[in-house]
Amino acid sequence: MDLSKFIRNIEHFPKDGVHFKDITPLLADSAAMADGLAQLMALVGDEKIDKVAAIESRGFFFGTLLAQNLNAGFVPIRKPGKLPYKTLKEPYQLEYGIDALEIHEDAILKGERVLLHDDVLATGGTMKAACKLIESLGGEIVQCNFLLELEFLNGIQKLKNRPVKSLLKY
Ligand code: IMP
Repeated sequence: MDLSKFIRNIEHFPKDGVHFKDITPLLADSAAMADGLAQLMALVGDEKIDKVAAIESRGFFFGTLLAQNLNAGFVPIRKPGKLPYKTLKEPYQLEYGIDALEIHEDAILKGERVLLHDDVLATGGTMKAACKLIESLGGEIVQCNFLLELEFLNGIQKLKNRPVKSLLKY
């Protein structure tokens, strides 16, 4: 299925000059969701995955589904102050601002094979921070996995040698 027809373009959101890719039409269509999940699973192939870590909040939609389908645990990576237990924190530059991400310090065991998932790869700052959190805990990043990648922002360069896969490229 061509999933691009379920991605809506919103101009000047969340601020002037940003062309936002809205995935809510995809979320609202059960057949498109099922097909999207199957396509994301195909990107993972037969890699063994211990944990799927996904980034708040749009990464959670497919992140939990991927974890279930890969027989892996799910790990939320969240904005500061949201996780209740002891956390590691990593600041990062966003396409539109500065923020930080946190992970529970016991979320990943040393040597675990981790699939990172988010909806969109833009400048790459968010995923880079998530990679650093996983690596700080001793996890091995098997793949950074996205629904879509904004290639013109060259986020892949920030992720260096970490394997990156995405379903749709713009
Ligand atoms: P980056 O750090 O610049 O790569 O931005 C990626 C993060 O911002 C992801 O967590 C996305 O959810 C969010 N993001 C950036 N641009 C878009 C967009 O066009 N649509 C949806 N989310 C976006």
